[in-house]
Amino acid sequence: MSTQPTASAGYADLHVHSCYSDGADTPMRVAERACKLGFAAISLTDHDTVEGVGEAEAAAREHGMEHLSGVEISARFQNLEVHILGYGINAGNQTLLAALSDLRRERDLRAVRMAAKLAPLGIELDMDAIRAEVRRGVIGRMHLARKIHELGKAKTVQDAFDKYIGRGKPAFVPKEAVTADAAIALIHTAGGLAFLAHPGIGKEVERRLPQLLTLDFDGIEVYHSKHTPGQITTFTMLAVERDLLISGGSDCHGEGKREPADMGKVRLPHYHVLRIQEAVRARKQV
Ligand code: AMP
Ligand code: ZN
Ligand code: FE
Ligand code: FE
Repeated sequence: MSTQPTASAGYADLHVHSCYSDGADTPMRVAERACKLGFAAISLTDHDTVEGVGEAEAAAREHGMEHLSGVEISARFQNLEVHILGYGINAGNQTLLAALSDLRRERDLRAVRMAAKLAPLGIELDMDAIRAEVRRGVIGRMHLARKIHELGKAKTVQDAFDKYIGRGKPAFVPKEAVTADAAIALIHTAGGLAFLAHPGIGKEVERRLPQLLTLDFDGIEVYHSKHTPGQITTFTMLAVERDLLISGGSDCHGEGKREPADMGKVRLPHYHVLRIQEAVRARKQV
């Protein structure tokens, strides 16, 4: 038997953002980028929205790639913010759509509150322009950071977080997030599987991993652009020990002014996509 990789082998990127949340690219552009990099499968995982899923599916198909429907929900666990990836969700599920619609409204309110805190600091943001930009998608701090940078009030987009809207900075407003338990239940209700996103970002999340993994997760995002080789080994061992599925992705937000896009930094062997798809099907039959 040949050991050559076939088209159904290859690699996947299961964590990518589009302009429906805080990425710079349309789902079509995301698919083009993935295709150029030789990926066999992708998953669009926008923050708190599935508005881009249909376009991503069509764009992936056009480029001869697979698309796994996805979302990245911001949730809270005790006093921590954790991100939870949902794979294989039915993007038309009414319970999911209603919950995401609430989160969208909360994000809009929060952006207005942050803008109100930025005004006395000499930064006037045009909220209508930001809303027009996100269209049916959700507003995130990245949108505000880009505008602050464009206005010349921060040297880089990152600098805008460091000076103004990062946690603990003068214009920061926390998000009204759902609990991690509720986010996982929501993903399950929509027929998907819940994965703990980038457990290696943020010391506190990593420290509380044993507690976090007592929740009803189906898998862990082992591979991520910001995970060190040591973290990847640790998370792989945890996944094996606890019989959890493994996912991975770049968390690409497109190209920044001076930053290249992150896509291509993580190449998840396609085998994991097959395991996830099998588990999604098994769950649906229960
Ligand atoms: P939000 O969900 O609106 O709180 O925005 C957080 C998102 O902004 C993260 O998921 C990242 O995509 C992005 N981000 C980029 N740089 C930073 C930073 N320094 N601190 C927090 N978030 C950042
Ligand atoms: Zn983001
Ligand atoms: Fe995240
Ligand atoms: Fe992300």
